[in-house]
Amino acid sequence: MSNATRQFTEKRLVIASHNPGKVREIGELLSPWQIEVVSASELNLPEPEETGDSFVANSKLKADAAALGANLPALADDSGMTVDGLGGAPGIYSARWGGPEKDFDMAMARVNDELGDNPDRSAQFVCALALTWPDGHCEVFEGEVGGTLVWPPRGDKGFGYDPMFHADGDAGTYGEIDPVAKHASSHRAIAFAKLIEACFPPAP
Ligand code: IMP
Repeated sequence: MSNATRQFTEKRLVIASHNPGKVREIGELLSPWQIEVVSASELNLPEPEETGDSFVANSKLKADAAALGANLPALADDSGMTVDGLGGAPGIYSARWGGPEKDFDMAMARVNDELGDNPDRSAQFVCALALTWPDGHCEVFEGEVGGTLVWPPRGDKGFGYDPMFHADGDAGTYGEIDPVAKHASSHRAIAFAKLIEACFPPAP
């Protein structure tokens, strides 16, 4: 059996997400390959519980469930922020710290409160992307960006923890800088570049 990375040659791909923003963004990214992108919600696929203990495990769990449910290849992303001074929290619980209301002002305040006067304000944004085929074969790619947490949060662009995260080398927080600049260099951009390089032929 070959250990080579499997190439994506199919015409349809399920995005294992019920978030229309994520589905649109991924569809745009894959537009040069003329792949028909369908979302897990369009196919009425259930959202699996994220029971994994890492970003990779959770992305794989979501992609595997969608590939099996749809009998099509499926792509899932799992991401979040890890804070060194909090032993890596919120990490895989980043979305859950926002609560059912997805209140990230509250989640950011919790991060800042728990850090207290800890001088170590370093953090990372991490993204794992899993691509699973219906026969169970899976390829996983990770992207990570390091930065510093600021307080109070700055800027109203982006989402989630963006306004408190100042990525190394950027001119401001992800809440302040042009989203085009964020999307060119973020944890998600890095993971996507690896996926494209490994699994997709050069764009036509
Ligand atoms: P997921 O959709 O279950 O992977 O949850 C990801 C969570 O991590 C989001 O709800 C955000 O809180 C956080 N997160 C991931 N990527 C970003 C980002 O680029 N900016 C800000 N927050 C992010």
